[in-house]
Amino acid sequence: MDSLTTPDDRRRCEVLGVPVDACRDVSAAAIGLHSSGGGRVVTLNAEMTMAARSHPLLGSAIASAELVIPDGAGVVWALSRQGVRVLKTAGIELAWTLLGYAASHGWRVALVGASPEVMGNLRRTLPEAFPGLKLVMAVDGYQPVQAWPEIEAELTETAPDLVLIALGVPRQEIWSHQQQLGKVGLWMGVGGSFDVWAGVKKRAPQWMCSLQIEWLYRLLQEPSRWRRMLVLPAFVWAVLRDR
Ligand code: UDP
Repeated sequence: MDSLTTPDDRRRCEVLGVPVDACRDVSAAAIGLHSSGGGRVVTLNAEMTMAARSHPLLGSAIASAELVIPDGAGVVWALSRQGVRVLKTAGIELAWTLLGYAASHGWRVALVGASPEVMGNLRRTLPEAFPGLKLVMAVDGYQPVQAWPEIEAELTETAPDLVLIALGVPRQEIWSHQQQLGKVGLWMGVGGSFDVWAGVKKRAPQWMCSLQIEWLYRLLQEPSRWRRMLVLPAFVWAVLRDR
């Protein structure tokens, strides 16, 4: 029998042994997590699920995250085979919603990652898009190794309510796993979202999302991703064989 989620429900499920939360309202779940002291939000897709199985540090970063949202048609499909019906929630949309909430609730926000040009653009455009947004830190992701301890110390000192991290998978998940420990606020890996917000990359058109071929659009936009995407048939095969 199918099980439906209720508004306050956050049911932890698993896809191929990787945890994922079925929630009806992910924004409410994330904001609730902030009020209960904070934690990490991971956006899980099929590619990451497969990577988590062979990459122990990524696997444990996901397993210990307080909220793991299904951000991919593959994960949603795998859950539906278990009778769990959820909507796909794009991490980029959740992050945008959280920025709006942050601006209207006086949250302090830190942005970490993406190129210096993209970060320069966001420093200018985000406060315009969200009047009142308190950007306490905005550092790009191409810092020399020796700069990171200072960035990390500043994050401890400023204790932001929301930290959005665009360093790519698995680095953003592993880094936030190490850094968030014992800190308040929501920490969330956002992949290429900063690039999209700055207009450097585009999201797939709606018709491709409806056909669940967003991955094809990403592949056409960034052909260098083909190797990473070879795991997708393996994901489908593993889910079909999984009991
Ligand atoms: N990035 C970064 N530092 C690095 C490598 C990548 O800040 O050393 C940024 C990159 O500029 C991009 C984001 O991380 O903004 C990764 O985007 P991608 O779409 O590749 O995310 P993924 O698919 O890995 O989640």
